[in-house]
Amino acid sequence: MTVGILALQGAFIEHEKMLSQIGVTSFEIRKKDDLHRHFDGLILPGGESTVMIKLLKELEMFEEVKSAIINGLPVFGTCAGMILLAKDVCNDKMNSLSTMDITVRRNAYGRQLGSFSAIAEMKGIGKIPMTFIRAPYIDSVKDNVEVLSIVDGHIVAAREDNQLATSFHPELTQDVSVHKYFVEMIRGTKSGRRSSV
Ligand code: GLN
Repeated sequence: MTVGILALQGAFIEHEKMLSQIGVTSFEIRKKDDLHRHFDGLILPGGESTVMIKLLKELEMFEEVKSAIINGLPVFGTCAGMILLAKDVCNDKMNSLSTMDITVRRNAYGRQLGSFSAIAEMKGIGKIPMTFIRAPYIDSVKDNVEVLSIVDGHIVAAREDNQLATSFHPELTQDVSVHKYFVEMIRGTKSGRRSSV
């Protein structure tokens, strides 16, 4: 199994390290051609969602990534990556990939509480450490979306079929269980494409 990691900006190296710890090969997706290599799943890392959207468009990768996800490519978005997946961002006008039936709130914890850690339950995994950095949270989800974690009354992890999103950064902790969960998701994906874009 090979996982592609969008590496235009942000915390992508940390995802590579997590995947290598659990024995999964990955490579960085930096340009359109990289999308034509074989990969079974895609990670959209944390960083600055506006910059990532701009670069995806400038590099002519936006539509290909979007249609691959719509066609069933397993994807895992962390923090800014979650904003990229959201169909709706309630406090900002974004032109995101808009593939997942969630409404997110950007920079939802304000400046004071911009960064914090928590230990909380994630459905299907158990208690895990969570690192939040100027994080969004999920305001609301449609019926087809499974809520996987709630911290302080806010949804911070969710799944819709082939799409997994977390407000927090599991790759900035020592705990590989969310990455393992994603790898299991890739293995279990029945419909859709399992190869490259
Ligand atoms: N605040 C960033 C954004 O809105 C997300 C922060 C992160 O990915 N750590 O895109």
